[in-house]
Amino acid sequence: MTLVAILTGAGISTDSGIPDYRGPNGVWRRNPGAEKYVTYDAYMNDPEIRRRAWRRRGDSPALRAEPNAGHRAVTDLERSGTPVRVITQNVDGLHQRAGLPARKVLELHGTAREIMCAACRRRSGVDRALARVAAGDDDPRCEECGGILKSATVMFGERLDPAVLGQAMAIAKGCEVFIAVGSTLTVQPAASLAGIAADHGARLIVVNADPTPYDDRAERVIREPIGTSLPPLLRTFHAR
Ligand code: ZN
Repeated sequence: MTLVAILTGAGISTDSGIPDYRGPNGVWRRNPGAEKYVTYDAYMNDPEIRRRAWRRRGDSPALRAEPNAGHRAVTDLERSGTPVRVITQNVDGLHQRAGLPARKVLELHGTAREIMCAACRRRSGVDRALARVAAGDDDPRCEECGGILKSATVMFGERLDPAVLGQAMAIAKGCEVFIAVGSTLTVQPAASLAGIAADHGARLIVVNADPTPYDDRAERVIREPIGTSLPPLLRTFHAR
């Protein structure tokens, strides 16, 4: 059966109230002062930055948001029996919240719903760490090894997980259809995945409000809002 790969970027989550952080016009680029909270060296070397980052994290819209019609359309496609893999640039976990099995989702930039120890790499849910912060532990440490805790997102200055990247490449090479949704296709490696898919014979479809560098390689380019255009598009790929 047709393997459908869906790459999702910030655009699929804006209807859930989550701003674009990482894109060329994203929050971090427009506000360089805030960028240090998500820059690895600054975070690791400055306890005051960590304390402020933890206080901000409690207010993060990514942790409060609910999935929207775009996320649900992707879940519906998977439930129809069509083989689906999602590669996402988002850290909000909303595909899984919308009911897509976690094994179907590759999170290129990690997840804001978990934290990890920078020393022993142990991961756990963000809620428990935030509860410790709320209880007065303003720079919480790993309960196993005492290491510095950070969000399980890929910070500036950190490498993407090579295993995740390798799987994303394999999906791009092996899929029959590659649909890029709400991604500007300008941030690597997401951008190159669209080209890899097209190079290996996939039908490329771009759903994004603004032009992308891959529009001329796409068999379809859809500019309409994701919430209304994605459900009917994905229904055409339903297995039943
Ligand atoms: Zn640790």
